[in-house]
Amino acid sequence: MSEKGILAVVSGFSGAGKGTLMKALLKKYEERYALSISATTRQPREGEVHGREYFFLTQEEFQQMIREDALIEHACYVKNYYGTPKQYVFDQMAAGKDVILEIEIQGALKVKEKFPDTLLLFVTPPSAKELEARLVGRGTETEDVIRDRLARAAEEAEYMDQYDYILVNDVLDDCVEQMHQLIQDQHQRVSENGAFISAMKQELKELVSSV
Ligand code: 5GP
Repeated sequence: MSEKGILAVVSGFSGAGKGTLMKALLKKYEERYALSISATTRQPREGEVHGREYFFLTQEEFQQMIREDALIEHACYVKNYYGTPKQYVFDQMAAGKDVILEIEIQGALKVKEKFPDTLLLFVTPPSAKELEARLVGRGTETEDVIRDRLARAAEEAEYMDQYDYILVNDVLDDCVEQMHQLIQDQHQRVSENGAFISAMKQELKELVSSV
């Protein structure tokens, strides 16, 4: 149906498994999706590469992007800035790819405000205890950071009901399929099919007037 790509935002508590989910989705449906790469002022974690996980910028470089209006949205999360570069998202959507932004809640709500057709998905583990276990098990963060992130999760839970769908990330493959289905269903939305609807109206008028 619609030719333009869908804009989908995926948020969820730090430790909900969003990263793994995104990787699995992109691996399975490589042709369908483009994952936006954010800019951030946080330090790279071990194994992260500039231009792959993030564009790692200095405060000054990040401020420069804001001044140039090069970000769709930006937000501060646990003492660092994160933002979504505009150009890539718009180019990929125009090329027909469904674009996924994996961003936190403040940013997600800003994107929805600017682009109301955005699909907001919230990924959560089955329980709070499971969230804590995953954060500890990841082994990449200090105790302080884990405490900060759990506190942040408690704040973020207040906003869950502003999302369109909740995805419980228990069995990874099931969650990937649910996410794929929800995004693909958006292509059938009336708001994504203006050109099709206009063409149908026009053809019907022509048919009626020719009989
Ligand atoms: P992390 O430091 O664990 O990679 O990311 C921390 C949080 O920042 C995550 O919730 C992630 O989704 C969010 N995030 C990543 N990129 C962006 C972005 O471009 N904008 C916003 N608002 N949040 C982002």
